[in-house]
Amino acid sequence: MIICEKCFCDTEIISVIQSKEEIGDCPLCKCKNVYVYDTNKYEDLSLMFDELISIYTPASSLPDSYPKSDTRLLASDLINSWNIFNNKSESNAYKMITEICKERYVYDAELFEQPVGIQELYDQDYLLMHSLLTTNSWDDFVNALKTKNRFHTYYVNLNLLERFCSYIRKPYKAGKIFYRCRISTEDGIPAEEMGAPPIENASDGRANARGIRCLYLGDTAETTIYETRAGAYDYVTVGKFKLIKDIIVVDLKKINQISPFIEGLDCLEYAINKEHLNKINNEMGKIMRRSDSTLDYVPTQYIADFVKSITHDGVVEYEGIEYKSVMHNEGYNLAVFNPNLFECIDTQIYGIDTIDYRKHIVQ
Ligand SMILES: [Zn+2]
Repeated sequence: MIICEKCFCDTEIISVIQSKEEIGDCPLCKCKNVYVYDTNKYEDLSLMFDELISIYTPASSLPDSYPKSDTRLLASDLINSWNIFNNKSESNAYKMITEICKERYVYDAELFEQPVGIQELYDQDYLLMHSLLTTNSWDDFVNALKTKNRFHTYYVNLNLLERFCSYIRKPYKAGKIFYRCRISTEDGIPAEEMGAPPIENASDGRANARGIRCLYLGDTAETTIYETRAGAYDYVTVGKFKLIKDIIVVDLKKINQISPFIEGLDCLEYAINKEHLNKINNEMGKIMRRSDSTLDYVPTQYIADFVKSITHDGVVEYEGIEYKSVMHNEGYNLAVFNPNLFECIDTQIYGIDTIDYRKHIVQ
């Protein structure tokens, strides 16, 4: 069967297909003049998929205690839990995996035809060793941080969190531009005052506790204006910030989109942690209301502080964390641990003309 790079959205699979350097038309997704891969000729993808589907067990072999509601067809779980296929139809995924894994299909058809589950999701001994939060839930962790022990909670498997961070590293070259916005007067704010506030004024934020400086930047002027939540007729000053040296940050936007096919990644360990990783992602992107307590920032501050503490040969590994903008859909933010890594090179003053309020009835 011929498949192509456009049939997939997983970067590891795409690079395997491209490495074959064969161009053609894809009978499956109908893309023309693309890198194609013949499942009868190569077995690279069979080996990759074989490892991934090995984490699943057919319903007939799962223990009786395994909840039936947590089983689904392999094709459907591959679509919903992993970002592998471009076409999200179940029949398409079924066709592809039974072709790619045709040898396995011959002797293990149940895996493809019956509902399946991941046995270790309910195996307490396995979870204790391999879950980010051992046998606790995300809510237990948040509650412990807020109400029991802020600095020495042993709820998180930090070695594992460090490993997941290493899969979502994102490098930036010196010269890269980001933006920062502050509400100002018509006269604006001078460039030298656009940076992170001094220690005595550093208040709680998503990635820093009170008293710890952190420079919050956005990918575009637009994103930062939204993030500032300026009101109609306010004036804002947007500073243009230039990165002064090459850095690496942790891209938390990608934390739930790590490819299961990365070499050395333990698919099973990743699969049982997907729910926790999603929570981290959601927590970073959660909307805060004026009435919310600064305690709600504690879980993300904990994660940010941990990322900041990771070193390699005594040198700081990550200079910041990047996360999706809550206020501006397409945008993202970068929290930089060392504010001196960026220099404000220009400012622009804007007046806010209108704000588009959308609402819904609560009661
Ligand atoms: Zn295709």
